[in-house]
Amino acid sequence: MNSEIQILVVDDEESLRNVLEELLTEEGHKVSIAASGEAALTLFEVQRHPLVLIDIRLPGLSGLEVVEKIKLLEPDTQVIMMTSYASLHTAIAALRSGATDYLIKPFDEFEIVTSVINRTIEKVRLLHDNKLLLSRLHKHNDELQNMNRVLQELAVKDGLTGLYNHRYFHEAIAIEHARARRYQRQYSLLFVDVDQFKHYNDTHGHPQGDELLKTLADLLIRRLRQSDTAARYGGEEFVLILPETTKQNAILAANNLRQLVADHPFPGRECQPDGKITISIGLANFPKDGDQPRILIDKADQALYQAKKTGRNAVISPEDEI
Ligand code: GH3
Ligand code: MG
Ligand code: MG
Repeated sequence: MNSEIQILVVDDEESLRNVLEELLTEEGHKVSIAASGEAALTLFEVQRHPLVLIDIRLPGLSGLEVVEKIKLLEPDTQVIMMTSYASLHTAIAALRSGATDYLIKPFDEFEIVTSVINRTIEKVRLLHDNKLLLSRLHKHNDELQNMNRVLQELAVKDGLTGLYNHRYFHEAIAIEHARARRYQRQYSLLFVDVDQFKHYNDTHGHPQGDELLKTLADLLIRRLRQSDTAARYGGEEFVLILPETTKQNAILAANNLRQLVADHPFPGRECQPDGKITISIGLANFPKDGDQPRILIDKADQALYQAKKTGRNAVISPEDEI
């Protein structure tokens, strides 16, 4: 509690300045001295003293004018006005305009002087501590908000690939379905599965299999539109929602992705049965293939199954089914 405080003493009487300087320095504070209002403001502009003791009657700028300017510069600065009995009414005006307390000159009892000053110093310290607490609170609040953002992200994302997770996919398709139905629009659903992935894992190990899934997710994300949703449905299976996409365009997009993967130089792909990494895609379109997400999911899944049966590295939609 005894940390030093910067105090500015403003009085045109040299003896009073000296008395206060000595008194306050003895108490362990750092004291600046000014003999006029103008000099006080110059000092205050350089250093915002949290406590100012100022004579009401000064040559040039009056004490009240100086207090007004100081309060504009730093509203938290505490001011003690010093006044003679004759101008006590001015001291009351000063209190109304923001001064914390006043002292009557000449100082008869130093005890009163020190007690008034100490009371104000206490207020300065409380204000300072409050500010510190408030800024810590703001900092903690920011940290909490950041953490919340991360948690929200974690709740909807798949840890390995960074794509949306299974749970989020079901929310996303419900929203897209409602939108498309309400505005009589189309959307397409693509189920993507890596061909012979077990073979890849068995040959290169599970960690390299993980790397492949990550790379594949990146390829998908980079090729898709921002308005599309890509999620990891599970294992080595992904699901894509393409809003505003006709069946014909979905087939084009799916073949595009299929080719992109087949051409990508995944490490170790030469050991795969086909000498490359390929994907199979089953797709379904709203409203052509069904009027409910559950039906579309089933149709796309069955189409994917057909794609596997036709020999993999293929895109199949419900009407292609045998
Ligand atoms: P198909 O062409 O018929 O799809 O054959 P496949 O080998 O890809 O399919 P299968 O379902 O037989 O095997 C899928 C493999 O995917 C088996 C499983 O260990 C692996 N797998 C599932 N999830 C992960 C994962 O997160 N990381 C890795 N490395 N492998 C995974
Ligand atoms: Mg597979
Ligand atoms: Mg699979």
